[in-house]
Amino acid sequence: MTEFKRDGSHLSSYPPVEKWDDWVELDPEAWPRRVEKHYQLVPTVCFNCESACGLLAYVDKATGQVTKFEGNPKHPASRGRLCAKGPATITQIHDPDRILYPMKRSGPRGGGKWARTSWDEVLETFGARIRKAFQENRGEEVMYHVGRPGQDHFMDRTTQAWGIDGHNSHTNVCSSSARFGYLLWHYTDRPSPDHANARFILLLSAHLESGHYFNPHAQRIIEGKMAGAKLAVMDPRLSNTASMADYWMPSYPGTEAAVLLAMAMVILGENRFDATFVKNWTNWEELEVDGFSAKGQSFEALIEALKRHYAKFTPEFAEKESGVKAEVIVKTAREIATAGSRFASHLWRGSSSGNLGGWQTARALMLLHVLTGSVGTPGGHSLSAWNKFVPQPFSDPPPQKRWNELLYPLEWPLCTHEMSPLLPHFLKEGRGRLEAYFTRVFNPVWTYPDGFSWIEMLRDEERVGLHAALTPTWSETAWFADYVLPMGFSSERHDLMSQESYAGRWIGFRQPVLRVLQEREGKKFDYTYQANPGEVWEEDEFWINLSWAIDPDGSMGIRQWFESPYHPGRKLTLDEYYGWMFENSVPGLPEAAAKEGLKPLEYMRKYGAYEVTTDVYKLNEKPVAPAALSGSKVEANGVITKEGKAVGVMVGGEPVVGYNTPSRKLELFSKTMADWQWPEFALPEYYRSHIHHSAQTASMGKTGADIDQDFDARYMPLVEWPKDSSGEVYTLLPIFRLPHLIHTRSGNSKFLYEIAHKNPLWLNPVDAKKLGGIRTGDLLKVHTEIGFFVLHAWVTEGLTPGVVACSHHMGRWRLNKEDQLERMSSAWVNLQEVGKGQWKMRQISGVEPYETSDPDTKRVWWSDAGVHQNLTFPVHPDPITGMHCWHQMVRVERAGADDRYGDIFVDTNLSFAVYQRWKALTRPAPGPGGLRRPLWIPRMRRPEGAAFYVSKKA
Ligand code: SF4
Repeated sequence: MTEFKRDGSHLSSYPPVEKWDDWVELDPEAWPRRVEKHYQLVPTVCFNCESACGLLAYVDKATGQVTKFEGNPKHPASRGRLCAKGPATITQIHDPDRILYPMKRSGPRGGGKWARTSWDEVLETFGARIRKAFQENRGEEVMYHVGRPGQDHFMDRTTQAWGIDGHNSHTNVCSSSARFGYLLWHYTDRPSPDHANARFILLLSAHLESGHYFNPHAQRIIEGKMAGAKLAVMDPRLSNTASMADYWMPSYPGTEAAVLLAMAMVILGENRFDATFVKNWTNWEELEVDGFSAKGQSFEALIEALKRHYAKFTPEFAEKESGVKAEVIVKTAREIATAGSRFASHLWRGSSSGNLGGWQTARALMLLHVLTGSVGTPGGHSLSAWNKFVPQPFSDPPPQKRWNELLYPLEWPLCTHEMSPLLPHFLKEGRGRLEAYFTRVFNPVWTYPDGFSWIEMLRDEERVGLHAALTPTWSETAWFADYVLPMGFSSERHDLMSQESYAGRWIGFRQPVLRVLQEREGKKFDYTYQANPGEVWEEDEFWINLSWAIDPDGSMGIRQWFESPYHPGRKLTLDEYYGWMFENSVPGLPEAAAKEGLKPLEYMRKYGAYEVTTDVYKLNEKPVAPAALSGSKVEANGVITKEGKAVGVMVGGEPVVGYNTPSRKLELFSKTMADWQWPEFALPEYYRSHIHHSAQTASMGKTGADIDQDFDARYMPLVEWPKDSSGEVYTLLPIFRLPHLIHTRSGNSKFLYEIAHKNPLWLNPVDAKKLGGIRTGDLLKVHTEIGFFVLHAWVTEGLTPGVVACSHHMGRWRLNKEDQLERMSSAWVNLQEVGKGQWKMRQISGVEPYETSDPDTKRVWWSDAGVHQNLTFPVHPDPITGMHCWHQMVRVERAGADDRYGDIFVDTNLSFAVYQRWKALTRPAPGPGGLRRPLWIPRMRRPEGAAFYVSKKA
């Protein structure tokens, strides 16, 4: 019997590695008897958000089953800590309603009838259809569309091996707006704050509880706070994060850039900026604004020009725009200046993703980092590329020769990512069709705006020839697929992950726990689905096998990329794929493994993670390598070029690598914006969002004195309300996340859904009174531009007046009473197309207890599944970034006698008209030299150079 009370390991936070092969705990269910349970602990990586925290799977040695998940203490980013969603993986793998076998529809598409099929049949069907498309030069008709990637590089490699420009992502409903603001400054499109070492932290998000990399970040924000850092949060909502802040700045949505520019003006005006950094590390000499050209001018003249340009951004102006008090703006600006190089911030969704022009929030925020010199410093803002490590595999296919205009159309030459929310509209316009469409861990019918347009697209077999939903869970989208292909959760698959979680670079290795354990015992498997529950597979092996099915004899040049690096001509295995990378492209890993007498793959299977380096500060100042310097020349602007390519920049007389921008410096002035028809945005600016109060006033048909005279309608497609809509106009914030839910993938987690399962409409008491004395629980009708939804009110002071809010997670629905969506999280609905493009949904019943092999499903006590608001939103593609601007101008009123909770109505004819109004705001390519897109701006799965030119279309 293990002596638990005296065993130090049981008083420590985590099981020590040396005990992972036989970890003993007392069985809590046997208490008060002391019954030992023996576990093997196997590390893997959480798949429930992008953070990629380390998990430890506890496998009961008696049953061979995974019984729980805890944190992996050896994971350098999460350090053994998890949010609620990590341990909840256990409920996902044991979900009695999960999809265990590949399914093929057996009736009309969308009819809800399915029959089990085999993986061989799936591979044969898709292999033949895709092969034919490739042979007929219809590569654009094959598309992979990902929701949660959960892996690095494997799919980039796969689509490029197929020679297609067919990788689509969800990024334009997620983060592409913030990315654009960052990339204009420093090429890398994601921020990586060093919260732990900061002195002042500014969050434009609810980052302690949700958001990008929030668990690894939250730990470090609290560390920073405990070491004395102050925290400011700009958010119209009193989130849990805002409640922990020293300063809560409840800004009116879309006005954040005005506040940030006012802070910049305080720092500039009080001469508290880091002049040496700005002079050395921005491209200030290229700046041209308001008739001033910095060329040949002094740095001091530049600063005066900037002060003139931003003079409008007084604290008082910012207060008028945003509602944030002028004195708070001044105070926080001074605190930021005092923190200097130890000023950290984070922005990802929220302001940037909600608003037309939201990308300017990131651009304005970066201006504060540039002024304080807090770029790449301890406690400052860093570049994601400096804190993320993606090992290269044994071979890489060449870039594709094609350019897919369904993904990167001419209208949005600067879009950060694929214009994926517009796919139904593009197909409706006749821009193309899809022969084979893979949705992968992705639920656009539910997640995207305008879901009924997605249903119209997916049910049309002319437009979408063959659709496979690769998914671990049933979803509203899978209902309209031809095949539903079950894919594994965190403990059922291989993936390699790295994220910019802190000042360091690491890799994490997700692995199929039961397969790994049985292989340790000598059992052999051809494929992971043979070890997983049912026939749940993993994508890596699926894509390898599908590639072989497309090109069985290798004559198409595809198969070669999926052959063993050790045994040419033999099918690649995942041990070979990952083993080769760990041996050859992760610095230091072979040596670390050798110290323990392990091969690198064995080391990664044992620990699940590896820290590559913490030497990540100020990488822009690294000297140019002698080999790159030899034969190079220095251009007039100081950029060092070799064979036509920039390799560095001269700073202070020294050749250093700089940033990957055209100037190799931080681009205060963006010549790219000027060259690509947006000269008014060459500098960081603020302009009003589509939901600004002046736009709201105008949408009510008011004119003259009622409308703010500064209202600039150039960028704003005004709302045209449906004829019968009524009620007061508000801004709806529809995208805040709840800390414990996983977009649309929590439905199969009883723990998570028990915690919360409602999404009422938040509104301030001031507005509740204005709407006729609304009380919590009253039924409200919310009209959008294309329809309405009906839900309950939640009256709270935790929200700025004039704004209403609704969490984005809830409102799952199913068309069958009994199956095809987890019943604990969805309402059973009646969906009718009552006229062409006119869709009506009414709930038949909410959540009810139900019988399965899990007795807990009989104990489900909640009845509310929430209301699906996204269906009622039209697409709002930002004219520059292409980001869907989520915030909605809505009209809110008390629900009528005929309205019922959960009612939804949408007219997709109206949504198509809204799409066209927004499209009219774009300034299409070609740009300089006939380019589709600036060559220097990153592009996902970058094609070869010639494909970038309109005239040289492949
Ligand atoms: S933050 Fe939570 S959901 Fe995300 S990877 Fe970590 S444990 Fe999983």
